[in-house]
Amino acid sequence: HEAKQQHHGFRRFSPDTAMESADRLTLLGDLRRALTDTEQFTLHYQAKIRLDTGELVGVEALARWSHPTKGPIPPGQFIPVLETTSLIHPFTERVLTIALQQARGWLNSGHRVPVAVNLSTRSLLDETFPDRLATLLDATGVPGDLLCIEITEHTVLADPSTTIEALNQVRALGVKTSIDDFGTGYSSMTYLKLLPVDELKIDRSFVADMVTDPSSHALVAAAVDLAHNLGLTVVAEGVEDAATADALNKLSCDTAQGYHFARPVPAPELAQRFLAVLS
Ligand code: C2E
Ligand code: MG
Ligand code: MG
Ligand code: MG
Repeated sequence: HEAKQQHHGFRRFSPDTAMESADRLTLLGDLRRALTDTEQFTLHYQAKIRLDTGELVGVEALARWSHPTKGPIPPGQFIPVLETTSLIHPFTERVLTIALQQARGWLNSGHRVPVAVNLSTRSLLDETFPDRLATLLDATGVPGDLLCIEITEHTVLADPSTTIEALNQVRALGVKTSIDDFGTGYSSMTYLKLLPVDELKIDRSFVADMVTDPSSHALVAAAVDLAHNLGLTVVAEGVEDAATADALNKLSCDTAQGYHFARPVPAPELAQRFLAVLS
């Protein structure tokens, strides 16, 4: 958690920071080259499951970077670096393009699979974003309601009024909106009331131990009720066992994601398991 918060707060200069800067520059150079390559960035897809029926209700696209010499580098490591520069814009464009082409591919084989994409603060707050999104939807011929944009509370806190405006523009395209990692960002009740979102995702840190920790259970229960009372769909993140899935279902939580149901996998695997098609 400490490392995560550092990206959003101020950092004091220290010899460590200087070392890190050299690494960051190398990483940025590699990322810049990766963006000119069509192979290095891919998406994996994690199933989102309806808890009462076990049905697939959509997928979340998660970026994967296969570095030519270092191998796989997790998004938690390279996305915060991308976000410090304007390279985040072509990256977001790449992710959205792959995700929408995939949604189109599934549509072509007869499956309406809603796809959620994580959006960095900088991308959402970029004033050209809604137009670019509209262009991508047009180009791929994917109906807006098959796309969901996930943002975190950090984005909201960075600039609440621009966030609200941007989310409204995104929704005007029919695209769904979601608050990711809910509970970790100190979002105030006021923002929740004002935010034009369709879905709330309860952070894994609360879900993970809800069966054994009564206070986590209470927080998850409260988040489910809060979401429902605001007319939002609620997703539990990071469900790793049947007991947790059961407990969530008892709380009337709508949907869930987690290793208990499925890990993030390449599109063909997702389709094979959930769509019963072979491509
Ligand atoms: P997130 O959006 O909250 O995604 C959920 C993360 O939890 C994913 O990690 C997923 O693999 C992992 N996860 C899912 N189920 C379980 C589980 O049952 N147990 C555990 N321990 N973990 C689970 P991943 O793929 O490493 O992504 C980390 C974060 O990186 C994401 O968190 C998201 O904030 C960011 N991210 C990923 N792809 C993109 C992207 O294309 N664009 C942007 N801006 N951010 C992205
Ligand atoms: Mg997410
Ligand atoms: Mg999350
Ligand atoms: Mg997360």
